Amino acid sequence: RHTLPYETDGVVVKVDSIAQQEELGYTSKSPRWAMAYKFKAEQVDTLLESISYQVGRTGAITPVANLQPVLLAGTIVKRASLHNADQIEKLDIHIGDSVYVEKGGEIIPKIVGVNLEKREANAQKVQYITHCPECGTALVRNEGEAQHYCPNSNSCPPQITGKIQHFISRKAMDIEGLGEETVELLFKAGIIHTYADLYEVTVAKLLPLERMAQKSAENIVKGIEKSKEIPFERVLFALGIRYVGETVAKKLARHYKTIEALEAATIEQLIEVDEIGNQIASSVVSFFADAYNRALIERLKGYGLQFALSEQATEGQTDKLKGLTFVVSGVFHLHSRDELKILIEQHGGKVSSSISSKTSYVIVGDNMGPSKKEKAESLGVKMISEEEFEALIIS
Ligand SMILES: [Zn+2]
Repeated sequence: RHTLPYETDGVVVKVDSIAQQEELGYTSKSPRWAMAYKFKAEQVDTLLESISYQVGRTGAITPVANLQPVLLAGTIVKRASLHNADQIEKLDIHIGDSVYVEKGGEIIPKIVGVNLEKREANAQKVQYITHCPECGTALVRNEGEAQHYCPNSNSCPPQITGKIQHFISRKAMDIEGLGEETVELLFKAGIIHTYADLYEVTVAKLLPLERMAQKSAENIVKGIEKSKEIPFERVLFALGIRYVGETVAKKLARHYKTIEALEAATIEQLIEVDEIGNQIASSVVSFFADAYNRALIERLKGYGLQFALSEQATEGQTDKLKGLTFVVSGVFHLHSRDELKILIEQHGGKVSSSISSKTSYVIVGDNMGPSKKEKAESLGVKMISEEEFEALIIS
């Protein structure tokens, strides 16, 4: 490994004989005649110089270890994530410790332990911060959650810019011409304080900014204008409600169809929605309970953003598959696997990746994995073809 002219994290061991390869065949995911063998991750120890605390857009605090720069698996490592207070507690980190750093599959290296031999006799345990490093507000930690939060969500600077940056991001409002740095600049210049302020931005307001050319200013304004066409589900994601990621936003938008209906939903009603748990439900309810957020949404409505599913999106939606769970397995001719999944959801059904006693139907294509087939048979789950599935939604 170390004599190779490139970095590697493992090897693949393969059966040499083609005839034996053919006999072994494939599982649904990979060939049975090849196997990955990962080397143990490389580890080094280095001095933990300090811990800094980052504040995310939802107020979540992430402790980051600042390390004495060290060479690890070909790159110089200076920082490592410490995740949360529990992790620091678990590793029992003391000030001035030498820590073992490892690079796993992730890009960010992690601290896996402390070199106790190098610990000073009178070293003090790391005390987790009690107040937000950015705005000084006392941190809170909800029961059952690993992360501490700064509750000052409407005035804590990194939370404000973080929310706006999330709002404009590609998977959310996808505002062209506007990047993270420009958001910082606009915030510092006092032009925007919330994402709703974006819709009041004009070329004239932008021009006095440093390094802002007429052309870029025009592009930003055009990009903001264009975002008014972004569909409801992405607007919902863009609002930055804690725990409401892309997929959850899509589910909520399809279920409630308008922001007003979602706003009126209780925790109990939200939990009834497929795959929405208590944590998401409480987060949605508390978001809408906040008058500040409701005022923001009213302003966004006034600017003409999409707060209801378009007719196009609701067209073709039915409840024909309501209460049914499907597993899609194999290769198909009429539709791609993703198309089938979209069809299932459009008609109110649920898609699952694994077969269980709760599965209503397995839609079977060519080359279905033999283990899946066995499982479906042993559980007595009905297996249907693509054509039979179509008949279910057409009838
Ligand atoms: Zn704060």
